Amino acid sequence: MAISRGPSTTRARTDRLWEDVESLLSVDEARERVLAAVEPLPAVRVPLLDALGLVLAQPVFAGHDVPPFTNSAMDGYAVRAADTAGASYDRPVTLAVIAEIPAGSCPAVSIGPGQAARIMTGAVLPEGANAVVRFEETDEWNASGGSTSAGKRAEVRVFRPAKPGENVRLAGEDIKAGQEVLPAGTVLQPACIGLLASLNQRWVTVHRRPRVAILATGNEVMDLGPELLPGQIRNSNNYTLAALVKQCGGEPILLGVVRDDPDEIRLRLRSARGVDLILTSGGVSIGDYDLVKYVLQAEGRVELWQVRIKPGKPMAFGWIGGVPMLGLPGNPVAAYVAFLQFGRPAILKMLGYEDWTLPTVRARLLAPCENRGQRRHFVRVRLERQGEEYVARPVGEQGSGILSSVAQANGLAVIPEQWNEAPAGAVVDVQLLDAVWIP
Ligand code: AMP
Ligand code: MG
Repeated sequence: MAISRGPSTTRARTDRLWEDVESLLSVDEARERVLAAVEPLPAVRVPLLDALGLVLAQPVFAGHDVPPFTNSAMDGYAVRAADTAGASYDRPVTLAVIAEIPAGSCPAVSIGPGQAARIMTGAVLPEGANAVVRFEETDEWNASGGSTSAGKRAEVRVFRPAKPGENVRLAGEDIKAGQEVLPAGTVLQPACIGLLASLNQRWVTVHRRPRVAILATGNEVMDLGPELLPGQIRNSNNYTLAALVKQCGGEPILLGVVRDDPDEIRLRLRSARGVDLILTSGGVSIGDYDLVKYVLQAEGRVELWQVRIKPGKPMAFGWIGGVPMLGLPGNPVAAYVAFLQFGRPAILKMLGYEDWTLPTVRARLLAPCENRGQRRHFVRVRLERQGEEYVARPVGEQGSGILSSVAQANGLAVIPEQWNEAPAGAVVDVQLLDAVWIP
């Protein structure tokens, strides 16, 4: 297909810019720079269930005790513990049953000396009682180990002494009214959602999700739909990146593909105003048509980076109309790896997370991995547990265009930049690819 060349001034400008490229940055330096450019986003109120995986922007205080009243932890008999002193199978204590208290009702009785109330788990403990004797320790239990009776009974024989407080759940034993239940900064896991529900919090104040615009560049790159013409390839990056953005809690906004044309790129990027982060892929390496950097320089402030990372050395980072922009490499695996190391932390920081490292384990390599060029090499591996340790086996081809091997992998083994090779048996960090999922 015909490829339109950018104006010669564009190329001259690009070349000049390329000379401005900073010296090689380490992965950690690059990540620090990206992180320094973003802040947790403002708070919004969202329905309770939508807050799963998000981060509390303000502390939550309890409006009441949990449990709200003192109640029975067992099905049995509410008693005054002192009445059961000395009870045994041979010499049971007989108590008068004065009430039946199912869960959800309010007992109108008070337990006096020599009295008991039949009570169910979760029911309000009546006045006067301070312990619950389980059915199993009364004559309401037959020799074959089952409950003998429902129905009213006038008395119960107790076979074991109850201690004060036994089988009783005190009001506020989980949470006290007025207490700070969850501090600001809490990542809302399922148990937090349940805790908030127990306090009737139907809405929760969290840092809002970042809106992340995703733009592919390249004359050869075709979005999904029309059949490919000779020389064209499919735009996979936008979909990989959108899925990654979703997976870490952002809201992807697909901006499609633009040709390597400064005006097109400029126009499309303008349509991204109002987002919190712009991700582009392609067009940041040294090449005639690598115009993203030129456009970015004209539209905002941008730095071109060469990061000591493999795959994915060339990157751009800057600001477009006040929005931080991360220019990822075009090669599908390079874009994937670079997103995980730089884009994901930025999104997590915007969400209010304080820990943005990927979950990592130490694992023994089952095959050697080369690492020329003093870059931190992220090697696609299958990680599994073998006895007392984790082992990692490199999977498939490791080329930066080979997305299928990423699809097979469940981890990225991290080969340090100082190593020329990681021999089989070396123990390295492995980042887990499928362990983190923020809905
Ligand atoms: P670039 O960084 O623009 O030089 O692109 C590097 C390689 O990645 C080239 O082989 C491109 O065809 C390929 N590539 C660029 N963008 C995409 C995309 N959106 N989806 C799949 N491959 C891409
Ligand atoms: Mg390109």
